[in-house]
Amino acid sequence: MEIKKGIAVSPGVAIGKSLIVDSEDYRIPRREIEPSQRVEEIQRVRNAFHEATEELDALERGQDEATGGRIKDIFAVHLRFLRDRSLRRRITDMVHTQSVTAEYAVSTVLREIAAHFETNVKDTYISERAADIYDIERRLLRRLLGTKREDILHLREEVIVVARQLSPTQTAGFNRDYVKGIASDAGGRTSHAAIVARSLGIPAVVALEDLTEIVRGGDRVIIDGNRGIVIVNPDQETIRQYEVYSREFLALEHKLDSLREKPATTRDGVRISLLGNIEFPDEAHLVLEKGGEGVGLYRTEFLYLNRTTEPVEQEQYEAYAEVARVFKNKPVVIRTLDLGADKYTQSRRLAPEPNPFLGLRSIRFCLQNLSMFKTQLRAILRASVLGQIKIMFPLITSVQELMQARMIVHDVMEDLDEENIHYNRNIELGAMIETPSAALTASTLARDVDFFSIGTNDLTQYTLAVDRGNELVSPLYSAADPAVLRLIRMIIQDANKARIDVSVCGETASEPEYVMLLLGMGIRTLSLTPPMVPEIKQVIRSVTIEDCNHLTRTVLGMNSERQISGYLRATARKILPEAF
Ligand code: PEP
Ligand code: MG
Repeated sequence: MEIKKGIAVSPGVAIGKSLIVDSEDYRIPRREIEPSQRVEEIQRVRNAFHEATEELDALERGQDEATGGRIKDIFAVHLRFLRDRSLRRRITDMVHTQSVTAEYAVSTVLREIAAHFETNVKDTYISERAADIYDIERRLLRRLLGTKREDILHLREEVIVVARQLSPTQTAGFNRDYVKGIASDAGGRTSHAAIVARSLGIPAVVALEDLTEIVRGGDRVIIDGNRGIVIVNPDQETIRQYEVYSREFLALEHKLDSLREKPATTRDGVRISLLGNIEFPDEAHLVLEKGGEGVGLYRTEFLYLNRTTEPVEQEQYEAYAEVARVFKNKPVVIRTLDLGADKYTQSRRLAPEPNPFLGLRSIRFCLQNLSMFKTQLRAILRASVLGQIKIMFPLITSVQELMQARMIVHDVMEDLDEENIHYNRNIELGAMIETPSAALTASTLARDVDFFSIGTNDLTQYTLAVDRGNELVSPLYSAADPAVLRLIRMIIQDANKARIDVSVCGETASEPEYVMLLLGMGIRTLSLTPPMVPEIKQVIRSVTIEDCNHLTRTVLGMNSERQISGYLRATARKILPEAF
């Protein structure tokens, strides 16, 4: 049994068999085994060869001579390699003499052979066989590491996904019925893969550093998404304790779900709006189910990921219309494309930027790709007649950017007028305030928008110069830092002075310990990850605004992040002890 501590990013407990994902592009780390495990490890090598040979044999036989002649030849070459006893012996000898895992030996030996072909063989035909050897390596590794990578989309049994790093797109593609937990070496609390895991309600822990060096495909793993712990090959007593803990956690969730119909009102009668953050249209129902009263952040860029072509206007229209229809006259804030940074389309992934979080991201990307931007705005405006849709621009850093974005909305409105297409002429336009420059110029920006939404995830990242997804600096990443809190307070004050709405849609809105502070600073609308709505509602219903004001005064008088986060946690623990 091995216990690893990481960062809890999505609550809940899961126990199950691990499935290693994304191993195909990843060098298998060297991992040593006990001498007593060598026999078992050698048997794993033999089994992998045997199963891969059988699989290829069947594939070769299935190829029709006329159409599959060339493919048949390739399979035949691969089969010859797999049946080569000296190759297998070289791998098993390595396991035996160096006491390393089967996957490490397979990967090392086959890569040595491939490298030999690539560098020493002059004949192009033969040197190109290196690609075949990499293919064989992948085929064997899939056997050793668990299920095939492509099977993640066609799972038939429950798994715990273990990966070095997951992209938001990969995570969004997970089938919630089968992926019961997620654990990764890399990542941070507000990395987009973590945000998606939270929206899907899958318990997850990230920043586990070397977990993929410890877990093997098929190992039993416990994911404790409340405490940020992963336990590999737990003993029976630990499993039993976690089963009890998991039942208690589910009972708490069930109890909180009963708050669904109750308003998010403080004990002294101040009504708070709780909206949901969504990535896909079908999550709108989850927001309703959890008691959310609209959508405060619709991250539309997810419609663009995981595909090679852009969604056409009609497809986007339908994705927005679906949500507007669910909420009818309740607000649905559609954020325009926030592509770039950790959310690249397939084509942009081929030309990576050196520093993507400071690169051609979000509104900057849209302003340089007007046809894409206009297509989205047309789709949003067309859907605006169906409900209370609002448009929000991400990553605004200057007033010029905001003016340009507004101008383009007006251009698109004119086009629609010419075509006699209806839309809501008075649609509200808002800006995300998620950069220090926007926070510092909030009083100016407020003149040109109807509302602000504070994106604390990026605001923290850019204020503290700490990558939100990099586990190496994750202890430095905290919205409780006095610098971030001062900016948040400044944005709220400027919005209030300009009499425009201001909400928070970053992850702080989903964290029970920040709720009182945000209310004390004057926030009355929170947009959060849907599964957290009941818990946040419970906190709101347990406090008075006077309590919140008092807490805020105390916090703003503190000078260190450590002191502030400790105080916030201790206060929240008193209010909602079950959640901690
Ligand atoms: C934020 O930055 O706080 C935010 C809500 O946007 P995202 O997490 O999508 O970058
Ligand atoms: Mg952001």
